[in-house]
Amino acid sequence: MTNTLYDALLKPHVENDKPLLVLTDGSKISYTKAIERAHRIANVLIANGVAPGDRVAAQVEKSPEALFLYFACVAAGAVFLPLNSAYTASELSYFIEDASPSLVVVDPAKIEALAPTAARAGAKLETLASDGSGSLAEKAETASADFDPVPREPGDLAAILYTSGTTGRSKGAMLSHDNLLSNARTLTEYWQFTGDDVLLHALPIYHTHGLFVATNIILGVGATMIFHAKFDAKEVIKSLPGATSMMGVPTFYVRLLKEEALQRELVSHFRLFISGSAPLLAETHIDFETRTGHRILERYGMTETNMNTSNPFDGERRAGTVGFPLPDVALRIVDAETGREVEPGKVGVIEVKGPNVFQGYWQMPEKTKEEFRADGFFITGDLATQDTDGYVTIVGRAKDLVISGGFNVYPKEIEGVIDEMPGVVESAVFGVPHEDFGEAVVAAVVARDAANLQEAEMIQILKKDMAVFKVPKKIIFLGELPRNTMGKVQKNVLRESYNGLFQGIS
Ligand code: AMP
Repeated sequence: MTNTLYDALLKPHVENDKPLLVLTDGSKISYTKAIERAHRIANVLIANGVAPGDRVAAQVEKSPEALFLYFACVAAGAVFLPLNSAYTASELSYFIEDASPSLVVVDPAKIEALAPTAARAGAKLETLASDGSGSLAEKAETASADFDPVPREPGDLAAILYTSGTTGRSKGAMLSHDNLLSNARTLTEYWQFTGDDVLLHALPIYHTHGLFVATNIILGVGATMIFHAKFDAKEVIKSLPGATSMMGVPTFYVRLLKEEALQRELVSHFRLFISGSAPLLAETHIDFETRTGHRILERYGMTETNMNTSNPFDGERRAGTVGFPLPDVALRIVDAETGREVEPGKVGVIEVKGPNVFQGYWQMPEKTKEEFRADGFFITGDLATQDTDGYVTIVGRAKDLVISGGFNVYPKEIEGVIDEMPGVVESAVFGVPHEDFGEAVVAAVVARDAANLQEAEMIQILKKDMAVFKVPKKIIFLGELPRNTMGKVQKNVLRESYNGLFQGIS
């Protein structure tokens, strides 16, 4: 009897005294201990009636126990459904109703608010607090440490991850055991991870980056993670000397660069810094290299596809690009209308196919069909170019494309020029309704010192550089750009906030 993920990632470590986790207080949890805890939790899942293929939804703070709940779901043949810890009780109700899990694990503080929804959905409830206490942990304490993994085939579901849902309803991406394992194996080789690695883990574990990319790679090679409950630049700095590698979102690197203590000597022993989940500014890439001597390796992926492209481990890590398609990923860039591949260097939509690509959206067969081509390629919705030498550069999401006066405006092109202006920290270009143009281009700019930047002057400079239809009709100065927890700029929030900017003006 086999269980694809369990056999590859957990079974080899049942008797492995090496630390899987090192916590920030210095305490360690060995592989053996982690798997024993996972087995106990798996027994609690079964006692709650969780059958193979049942969903187990979890909205809990990051903790070792929360990670072991993922392992337990793998062992028990359940479908793990982690939820962003920022969701409110009413948002959670949507996910519970949509996914109809047989068990919901929540922070003790949320239990009262969620009890009626769980009851309606016929789901049992358990609690798990950030300190590892709660009914799930209590029951696990007295449950057996022996557990026979439930058989699971490569194509069986291991997880459902809801997309952040910036347009319309959030969709549940169904990921199979093989989707996760194949990608972890490809990345392990591509990034040359070994059992000697110590990964600094400060990402959330409800998202593919921290949960699957980081954790599955580390389990696969039997390495160690320094496990931070959240990203705190000063705490991370303290852990850098003991680590060999780190995976982060761009904001991690921006924040680390603000710390004086980030110096070359602190990380001279480091093997690899990886960035993904949102665009890393070329400027951050260069500043980080100047300060530390390390070139950040940027990669690109999404919840639905795991990782698709990466800059090389050996070879040129090109700032502003997301590198090459991974070895087992077929990638093409096509014209959104015709579906035909575009010439190198021309903008089109990224489509991918490979063992990494998900099984479809949970209970949305129509939506799933819309997002796949007849030949099995998944339409990512990301706009990009690919050079003749293979490097892929993302220029934005298709839904963020602004169409002004019938012309396509790619926000990244304008953001690039604005970001080059002295005194600009960063910018976000988006479209808002406009009577004449359909949409008007607007730029939100974060300035080092807003008093030194004049909207009119900036517009003058832009007019010299680009066609007038691309030049923002309005520049808004903000203290910071709205971002979600993965560091992505929320253009939908900007669009909503400034939706009425040109109302009544033509
Ligand atoms: P998520 O499903 O939350 O991981 O979001 C996936 C989306 O994040 C992708 O479709 C891209 O739009 C964006 N993304 C991920 N990695 C990168 C990257 N390195 N550069 C630019 N955008 C990225």
